[in-house]
Amino acid sequence: MPKAKSCSGCGIPTRFCKEVRWESNGTVVMTRNPDQRVIFCESEGIDMLFRNIQELVKVPIDHIIIEGKRKGAYDYFHQAFSGLKGALIRTLMRRQFFKISTDMGALLGLGRLELADYAKSEYIKIYGRNVYSVPLYSGDLAGIFNFMEGLPAIVKCEEKDGGYIFTASPNSEVQEELVARLQGKAPPRQPGNTRLERCQVCSLPVVLAEYEWDQGMGTIADPATSRCMALVGPTDIDSVFRELENELGEEIPRTILEAQRRYITSAFDRGEIGKLEEYLHRHFALRGMGNLVQVVLREDSLEATVNNASPPLLVAGILQGFFELNSGSGSSCQYDKGENGTLNVEIRRD
Ligand SMILES: [Zn+2]
Repeated sequence: MPKAKSCSGCGIPTRFCKEVRWESNGTVVMTRNPDQRVIFCESEGIDMLFRNIQELVKVPIDHIIIEGKRKGAYDYFHQAFSGLKGALIRTLMRRQFFKISTDMGALLGLGRLELADYAKSEYIKIYGRNVYSVPLYSGDLAGIFNFMEGLPAIVKCEEKDGGYIFTASPNSEVQEELVARLQGKAPPRQPGNTRLERCQVCSLPVVLAEYEWDQGMGTIADPATSRCMALVGPTDIDSVFRELENELGEEIPRTILEAQRRYITSAFDRGEIGKLEEYLHRHFALRGMGNLVQVVLREDSLEATVNNASPPLLVAGILQGFFELNSGSGSSCQYDKGENGTLNVEIRRD
């Protein structure tokens, strides 16, 4: 594969610089559709979060994750390619559509994805390596099948040659509508001024240049920690959380918060943090999870306000996890999600 062009200022692949934008209000958006937010997060973190949730609820949850992600993915395709555009893709541009979506997946760190086989109305097979999350990608493919074929989908996944073959095919057991409208309009984003140093040429945060971008392998890796990063829609993650809550009950938001707290305290260490208030501001801004506009840290508590917080439960879990790493003791956490996308969090040391 020829070496991809990169920014003369920071060395990040030019295509990525053009497709993704880090806003100053703590959000990251797709340049072609700024309404579409993404978060830049550790793939391992997604896996550990779901593993922790499963341990806490003590029942398998992969099928619920897949269904939540399917709804999010289908909703996205349904809205982004409605009417004539959608009809054109479904009739004349099927293979181009698969190629564009797998290329975009590689650019966003979702893995190396290739169309392995396709038969209209029968199946779509994708071979994936370095896949960011097996259940989330299974949900993505189910949503793509819904959109392309207009049919309910079942997705099977088999290991092959160090990767996975994902096969989506019609699900004859499901009679219901493919999807209901998932949610109301997202609140308008509040302006902000995150303090990330930026490349003079492409204006992406300079810290991104520390990552290794391998478009052939579909990975974005941090060589210092070996963590792989992926860009995922926060509304899709919220869709998975809603599905978990619908299936498993109203305790689920507290469970998700606890699962995220456990992930942070086990995967990060105190040495990475430095001054906590500044670290948290950078952590959220770099990941596009919000703008930490106010934080009061005391020996026994932390109070924080995050504008444009998304997904709110993960933001709250991150705050609690880092407070515990910093203080070296357990804590309790209260949070309040405002209508305007502002999250207030209060953490108290045990
Ligand atoms: Zn640059």
